[in-house]
Amino acid sequence: MGIVKDILYKISSSQYLEKVKSQSVFPYYHIVANDKKWHIKYLYLYKGTECFYSDIELLSKHYIPLPVEKIIEAKEKRNTFLLTFDDGLREVYTTIYPILKEKGLSAVFFINPDYVDNKKMMYKHRLSVLLSFIEKSNFDKNILNRVARICGFKYKDEKSFRQIFLKLKPVKEKEIDKIFELLNINEKEYLEKQKLYLSKDEIQEMMDNGFYFGGHSMSHRPLHELTFEEQKREIIDSVQWLKDNFRTTYSLFAFPFSDKGISSKLIEELFVYDPNMILFGNSGIRRDIDSRIIQRFSLENPKKHTTKVLVAENLYKYYNKLVGKYKIKRN
Ligand SMILES: [Zn+2]
Repeated sequence: MGIVKDILYKISSSQYLEKVKSQSVFPYYHIVANDKKWHIKYLYLYKGTECFYSDIELLSKHYIPLPVEKIIEAKEKRNTFLLTFDDGLREVYTTIYPILKEKGLSAVFFINPDYVDNKKMMYKHRLSVLLSFIEKSNFDKNILNRVARICGFKYKDEKSFRQIFLKLKPVKEKEIDKIFELLNINEKEYLEKQKLYLSKDEIQEMMDNGFYFGGHSMSHRPLHELTFEEQKREIIDSVQWLKDNFRTTYSLFAFPFSDKGISSKLIEELFVYDPNMILFGNSGIRRDIDSRIIQRFSLENPKKHTTKVLVAENLYKYYNKLVGKYKIKRN
């Protein structure tokens, strides 16, 4: 959250929601879980089931559920809500799916085909798992030094080690392999046991029960580190993968990490692939260069009061309108 949003959150009061809620909202989450997840622990905070239930209750009280078919047909966008979930984590099936089914709500899940069926682990999850294991050693100096040497960085203390380690770029994949060896973790076994991601069967079952799936790029690599052609392939291949494996007739896609810096040329090319494609970003309540792009905001932080987040996101919209930033500009 930026400074302005932080201030708006602080001054937001739940009672404003009735006044500011005229526009549809598209919240996103990654995971809902009651226990510690090593692969997430160092990345972001998340809600437990109780909090998630209360979010749903709150949204259902103030907004109308938006059936996914309606956005595809580009109809009815006022005062509705649609839940979305990124990264295809297993808890989507074990925890989120039963709750949504019970509540009669549909949702869209964005997945990275490279990790479906637990074939391998997403880069940022690998870093978090490794840090969790290093934490178990109480951040043993000897281990920190060896890890830093392998990855080629210098650090001052435990905190700076953590910060630098979490920012290591995917080009360090080979070095990260070596850290798994160093810490004696068999990654394949770990994945088989922990099952971090959805399987094809689970996706099929959810689809059969009225849930929608979209691409989130093949590998979740930061798009800005890729060439234009690679970006296009990462995106289109992930959407096409769903069509090839599940015969989906629609194209939904959410940008990994952020939609900031995504060029209008790339967006045009995606609409050449499928003019009915719906794209999802995470820039808050804003209008994009095309009505087929939907902007979302996160409701994941358990330390934030959900009604206040909804109010703050709406106030931030007015702020953006005031300073001329409501409409997203793309190069
Ligand atoms: Zn993601």
